[in-house]
Amino acid sequence: MFSILFCNFAARMKLSELKTGDHGVIVKVTGHGGFRKRIMEMGFVKGKTVDVLQSAPLQDPVKYKVMGYEVSLRRHEADMIEVTADTSPHHEVLRERRRLNVALVGNPNCGKTSLFNFASGAHAHVGNYSGVTVDATVAKASFYGYEFNLTDLPGTYSLTCYSPEELYVRKHLTENTPDVIINVIDASNLERNLYLTTQLVDMNLPMVCALNMYDEFERRGDSVDLKTLSMLFGMPMVPTSFKSGRGVKELFRAVIQVYEQTQGVSRHIHINYGHEIEKGIAQIQQFLKADEHIRQRYSTRYLAIKLLENDTSATEYVTQHIAEEHRPEDRKQLLAARSQAAARVLEEMNTDAETAIMDAKYGFIKGALAEAGYQTGTATDTYRATHAIDSVLSNKYLGFPIFFLLLYVMFQTTFSLGQYPMDWIEIGVGKLGEWVSDTMPDGPLRSLLVDGVIGGVGSVIVFLPQILILYFFISIMEDSGYMARAAFIMDRLMHRMGLHGKSFIPLIMGFGCNVPAVMATRTIESRRSRLITMMVLPFMSCSARLPIYIMITGTFFSLQYRSWVMMSLYVVGILMAFVVSNILSRFVLRGEDTPFVMELPPYRWPTAKAIGRHTWEKGKEYLKKMGGVILVASIVVWALGYFPHDDSLSTQQQQEQSYIGRLGQAVEPVFSVQGFNWKLDVSLLAGVGAKEIVASTIGVLYSGDDSFADDDTFSSDNEKYTRLRQLMKQEGITPIGAYAYLLFILLYFPCIATIVAIKHETGSWRWATVAAVYTTVVAWVVSAAFYQLAMWMFPA
Ligand code: GDP
Ligand code: MG
Repeated sequence: MFSILFCNFAARMKLSELKTGDHGVIVKVTGHGGFRKRIMEMGFVKGKTVDVLQSAPLQDPVKYKVMGYEVSLRRHEADMIEVTADTSPHHEVLRERRRLNVALVGNPNCGKTSLFNFASGAHAHVGNYSGVTVDATVAKASFYGYEFNLTDLPGTYSLTCYSPEELYVRKHLTENTPDVIINVIDASNLERNLYLTTQLVDMNLPMVCALNMYDEFERRGDSVDLKTLSMLFGMPMVPTSFKSGRGVKELFRAVIQVYEQTQGVSRHIHINYGHEIEKGIAQIQQFLKADEHIRQRYSTRYLAIKLLENDTSATEYVTQHIAEEHRPEDRKQLLAARSQAAARVLEEMNTDAETAIMDAKYGFIKGALAEAGYQTGTATDTYRATHAIDSVLSNKYLGFPIFFLLLYVMFQTTFSLGQYPMDWIEIGVGKLGEWVSDTMPDGPLRSLLVDGVIGGVGSVIVFLPQILILYFFISIMEDSGYMARAAFIMDRLMHRMGLHGKSFIPLIMGFGCNVPAVMATRTIESRRSRLITMMVLPFMSCSARLPIYIMITGTFFSLQYRSWVMMSLYVVGILMAFVVSNILSRFVLRGEDTPFVMELPPYRWPTAKAIGRHTWEKGKEYLKKMGGVILVASIVVWALGYFPHDDSLSTQQQQEQSYIGRLGQAVEPVFSVQGFNWKLDVSLLAGVGAKEIVASTIGVLYSGDDSFADDDTFSSDNEKYTRLRQLMKQEGITPIGAYAYLLFILLYFPCIATIVAIKHETGSWRWATVAAVYTTVVAWVVSAAFYQLAMWMFPA
């Protein structure tokens, strides 16, 4: 199957590349809707054979024979048709004919991912806050003998170029030219959802509308004449509910009909923008129509509207294309026409063109809804319930206390409940090490297994239960819709940090793991807020640092102070984020924020299945890291500590003369201000790979004494770290030094995966490097300042 697919794709070329006498089978027609339609009406349909009757270099047009007719195409046009020269395996081509690329487009939380999962049987994450779908996911589905390649695109309210998601969706629609678009609409919120539809209508793409959440629409007693509405928008509208699967089959039947052009309602409509704007559009369009290249790829009307709106992305595309063809005069004229049109709109209508166009779109929607007899019912709906819940949870006075109470419950439960399975795993790991020590002969292999693999991985794996519990809570907050409220009530505080309420979700996620948190910043529309959020994210103490905190606080502080010490670290992290974001927004990344919507989806009961899946997905990542980078690092750290080996030396002496000892001693001067010893220095170096490795490194470095195999010491939390404390104390580490060490761990270089994620999201190494360097500098300065100050205040 794979090889067939591969051959099929490998043999693809443009129709224009075929020579006289060649044959080809049409695979795909690209370009915007109007262009595609015209070409297809001429007989250039997927799966049909084309013969090249006459084609010579530089000869335009070229003569083709298709479906028994002779047709001539311009070379430009033939460029837009993909063919395969391989005409032999006819069934394969027929299959290609029955394979449709379908893109799902719609507002956030309208049910795209639900449809995607329902139709394909896939398990993409269904969430209830903006920002779960940050990338396109692809899956297959089949209905009525057709195969559908479904693409789940990020949710957007509009197709302007304010957010990376909007640009992403736009790019996908124009560059990947899906055969049909499914526009998913939240029927319980018709007016707002149809706004995006009007923009898609401008783009002139083959489209079907899914009026989703029709169950809620009906429950509330809303009514609309679907037939009329479909006619007015020129596209079939199918009532669906992706919760139950209602209407999915009908939806895909409509997709096939639109594709085969047997759908009666389907037509291209022009939204009338009123006299002044239409005049402007026509003026700009004139220049675009003259350009063959542009005309085929885009609807010139759509581009003209975008230009009139002063859309940067569209302007860039057009001017760049003209520049490539060295037509500076055309560029000047086009831009002049644009400014002239915009100026006239401003003069006549007293608003800028963008607003005027938006108003006209809403006018169109209002008109269409009125004509289709749209009426909202009065029965209770989710929004009513939502309002009631919101009056408490987002209350001016109650909102904050409730939020912090929830956070407190979350962390408290994570640590207290997590303690039980943690103890069990710890005992298991200890027993396993003991058993291996007893059954294997002494030597490097035993040491590798006991001290390297079991000591290293074991000291990290015990935190899996706590991490699962933490993610369980975060998943519930996300899926129920509470996370969006949390962002909402935090908005004011966030603004003081130069951030936006939306930054709050990634920041909270950062307590779990910085990597998905960095990716979640994509939902923040303003680049400036996005950058600042990414830069301060590493200060959100991720769960990978937890093992170190627990280990070191357990070792150096008595029980009644431990949670305070831990809490203080989280607070220091948050304060640093506050300070740094303030500095960045005042001095480095200055500028006004574009205001943007913070969507508040209705509260929904999260399903057990979704929560379980979401929690497990993250836990799985943690386990994967365990089997990969942490296992490897544990072995490397062990090997560096074991070699060169000399049996006659004591454990202490052995470590000092090993490679790791020498490495640690080499960097010791750098951290002498903080009072770290070389073992701590080494653990910091190891933590560059992943923070979990810090704990496992300490585990390996101090497990030379078989305290970890000593079963009795695990029974009580108080005694558990006594051995470790004695060892560290012997080496001259004080509680003050230990706290300085924790501060450094909290603040320095997050981990390679986070830095790579920042590079990926910002598109360059520049900000990634900035994040890597500045966090480390801050960590060094803060920990050194703390150590020196504390030593001066409390001389031992
Ligand atoms: P997306 O953001 O467009 O991908 O939306 P999702 O598929 O993540 O759905 C958002 C929420 O709406 C989830 O909690 C779904 O369970 C819920 N949902 C999806 N379709 C329906 C529907 O037809 N009716 C109802 N009542 N809820 C739905
Ligand atoms: Mg989604």
